[in-house]
Amino acid sequence: MTSNSGTKCIHEGWKPSEGEPRQLPIYQSTTFKYDSSDVMGQLFDLEREGYFYTRLQNPTNDAVAAKICELEGGVAAMLTSSGQAANFYAIFNICEAGDHFIASSAIYGGTYNLFGVTMKKMGIECTFVDQTLPAEELEKYFKPNTKAVFGETITNPTVTIFDFEKFAKLAHDHGVPLIVDNTFATPVNCKPFEWGADIVTHSTTKYMDGHAVGVGGCIVDSGNFDWMAHAEKFPGLTTPDESYHGITYAEKFGKGAYITKATAQLMRDFGAIQSPQNAFYLNLGLETLHLRMKQHCENALAIAKYLKANDKVAWVHYADLEGDDYNDLAKKYMPNGTCGVLAFGIKGGREASIKFMDNLNFISIVTHVADAKSCLLHPASHTHRQLTEEQLIEAGVAPDLIRLSVGIENVEDLIADLEQAFARL
Ligand SMILES: *Cc1c(COP(=O)(O)O)cnc(C)c1O
Repeated sequence: MTSNSGTKCIHEGWKPSEGEPRQLPIYQSTTFKYDSSDVMGQLFDLEREGYFYTRLQNPTNDAVAAKICELEGGVAAMLTSSGQAANFYAIFNICEAGDHFIASSAIYGGTYNLFGVTMKKMGIECTFVDQTLPAEELEKYFKPNTKAVFGETITNPTVTIFDFEKFAKLAHDHGVPLIVDNTFATPVNCKPFEWGADIVTHSTTKYMDGHAVGVGGCIVDSGNFDWMAHAEKFPGLTTPDESYHGITYAEKFGKGAYITKATAQLMRDFGAIQSPQNAFYLNLGLETLHLRMKQHCENALAIAKYLKANDKVAWVHYADLEGDDYNDLAKKYMPNGTCGVLAFGIKGGREASIKFMDNLNFISIVTHVADAKSCLLHPASHTHRQLTEEQLIEAGVAPDLIRLSVGIENVEDLIADLEQAFARL
């Protein structure tokens, strides 16, 4: 057992025994061989653990999921093909048509769409709430059919901070789990389970991969939520599953119930599996996650200070900056720093913002965040362009907001690039 994040990043997951490969092998195989039909049958009945088809489980993926599980301090985890798939599964695993859940309105645009548009078509209703409201106000959004509460540790792209304790108490008072997307902070900077979250999701596409090579996701369960104590709310976990000969997940798998159900039912039926090759790349990224997060945060803080002092800049949001609205929450939940993403607006609005972005040399305009290379994007014209002006404001995305993902280059060079782009405005 390792105790610090850095050591876990390197040593958890794949643990070779005598004579086995030092680095995680890629099990590039769709199927696994068995000598008896009886054993195979037991695998299909979930009576025995083992691999039989990569759509459900693969040893490379499982090793990487185990590493992320250790980093978060959870009991079980699974990889998915994307962050979108992770958030979809995380909710759909406990919600069905006729159910309701609550999500902070300040979340990633893709998740907002998934919850507000696509899941609505499946008969699952999401109420988006202003996460800054006091608990007494938030209380009013709970209904008898509410099954979960969802938020993001650090919101993309507005970089505000989720108040874990407030939402964990609300969720638990109503007998439902708190699900948190911990993509931007990563478990190196924030461990949501320590603050009451029950389930954590990730777009591993971002810092975990860290090099912009593979789209992927992950779901981790803390094992802390007692499904049986609220059995009537979660029949999928607490009553027999006819598609597995009457297994009741919460009885048979205990703390592993939630992830087992997501694997056995959702992966089986939807198949949003990560390829073992991508899981291998993800594992390489994870080996340096602790080093990179430190550098991302140092660089971002220096740039936030530079922007704050720049008279061409209208405003800067970065929670690690003294005086930021979210500085207190950041210090409480992420004392070692938040992440490398910050948001700012340039005087002169949309037009000046676009000119400024076009003026940059190596800081490039890409639809991405959280990899080694600095990049930026204008959400109102890019990621969030499907949202109406009203929805933009609800999501806290100002029309002049520029999202800057600060990479791990030398910070002097980053500031020089910003400086010359401002000079040519
Ligand atoms: C990118 C992102 C997602 C979606 O992840 P994909 O891997 O692109 O599907 C979800 N949540 C957050 C916070 C993200 O930044």
